[in-house]
Amino acid sequence: MDFAYSDRSVELQGAVRRFMQDYVLPHEQAYHTDVSNGIYPPQVVEDLKALAKDEGLWNFFLPALPSDAPGTGLSNLEYAPLAEIMGRVYWASEVFNCNAPDTGNMELLHLFATPAQKERWLKPLFEGEIRSCFMMTEPDVASSDATNIQFSIRRDGDEYVLDGRKWFITNALDPRAKLGIVLGVTDPDGPPHQRHTQVMFPMDTPGIVIERNISYMNHLAPEGTCEVVFRGVRVPVENLLGEEGAGFALAQARLGPGRIHHCMRSIGQCEVALDLMCQRALERRAFGKYLHEYGNIGDWIAKARIDIEQARLLVLKTAWLIDREGNRAARKEISMITALVPPLQTKIVNRAIQVFGAMGLSPDTPLPYLWSWGRALQILDGPDEVHLRAVAHHEIKRAQEERADSTAPEGYRQSRFTPPIAE
Ligand SMILES: Cc1cc2nc3c(=O)[nH]c(=O)nc-3n(C[C@H](O)[C@H](O)[C@H](O)COP(=O)(O)OP(=O)(O)OC[C@H]3O[C@@H](n4cnc5c(N)ncnc54)[C@H](O)[C@@H]3O)c2cc1C
Repeated sequence: MDFAYSDRSVELQGAVRRFMQDYVLPHEQAYHTDVSNGIYPPQVVEDLKALAKDEGLWNFFLPALPSDAPGTGLSNLEYAPLAEIMGRVYWASEVFNCNAPDTGNMELLHLFATPAQKERWLKPLFEGEIRSCFMMTEPDVASSDATNIQFSIRRDGDEYVLDGRKWFITNALDPRAKLGIVLGVTDPDGPPHQRHTQVMFPMDTPGIVIERNISYMNHLAPEGTCEVVFRGVRVPVENLLGEEGAGFALAQARLGPGRIHHCMRSIGQCEVALDLMCQRALERRAFGKYLHEYGNIGDWIAKARIDIEQARLLVLKTAWLIDREGNRAARKEISMITALVPPLQTKIVNRAIQVFGAMGLSPDTPLPYLWSWGRALQILDGPDEVHLRAVAHHEIKRAQEERADSTAPEGYRQSRFTPPIAE
């Protein structure tokens, strides 16, 4: 395993760090003022996008970025430290056109869209001219199990008719979101993994109603995490993404890279929390001592540093594995980091909040948002339990295979001593 960053990645890390320092951080306050005044998207985002694109700091996330698309596609290992730097400010990834769910949607279109679909949707996404939504989750079914999805996609002549309700749809309120991708059932009687299909549609298609923007942990996202209803929505059959019945497989293909990107950004957010915790502990005195002189706070700082370093290494290993062997080969590692990093984020941010006292709960630091986001990540990329179950499944399967291996040493099945070393 070699996690050394390439020269290209090191150079871009410097450039992105400088860009964040010179342009993003100075505009953080203005961004929040605009959003709290109901202005979305704030003009600063579009201005900074133009600047970043001009400097070639654009579309880092896609290793197979087509040569005619703007920007620099990087390997996952090269991209990881950049995502970490961008992740420090929650709206910054968009400045570099590396924001979810657009990145996942671009990857999906890149892999499965027809040339005409790419021209219509992928090109403006690569250019950062439009944004997009991915609509899978439904209020009435446990949506962490995508085979449960009930939304109806019915073929009628040259059209699909879409009916149903989706919720927690990111970006649905963004006026620049022009593309929606929906997962629904086309063959209710088919095998569970082949019943579903994905269809694309313009967000302003008649019959689509955004019923409400749902806050999470009291955070109301300006781009929306919305409940959306479809009533008899008609789209041409050319809007089919991939093949009928392949919707579940496409959803799986989309989620792998998305999850690792969230983890990379999360590591950056853990670093922000640790930085803030250290600064506050250095300057605040209580009962005759600086806070960092209290043993428990020193321990929190040390444990945060140790945990972050461990988590980063596992994320980098996962990136390295995806680059070498693909998403499928890295499924266990993707589940491991998705179960590891979001709870780590909430733990470290929670301790930082404690060190700040009441201020830690206020909007005067990013900590409340970072906590809410870490908490949301424990569900939104698949609940922790689902990922733990997946890791356990891999381990048990490996153990079963070892037991069944006829070449295993005599008596191994009954052995309670050191098992042979797996290749
Ligand atoms: C901020 C935010 C943004 C989101 N954006 C989008 C979006 O853009 N598009 C979209 O489609 N969705 C989006 N979602 C929804 C998200 O993807 C789903 O919430 C997630 O997939 C979980 O589905 P669910 O809420 O139906 O939970 P359920 O599937 O009902 O699960 C509930 C609980 O059941 C338990 N559980 C489930 N499975 C197991 C298991 N195997 N073992 C043990 N326990 C289990 C867990 O405790 C889990 O938390 C977003 C959510 C949030 C919070």
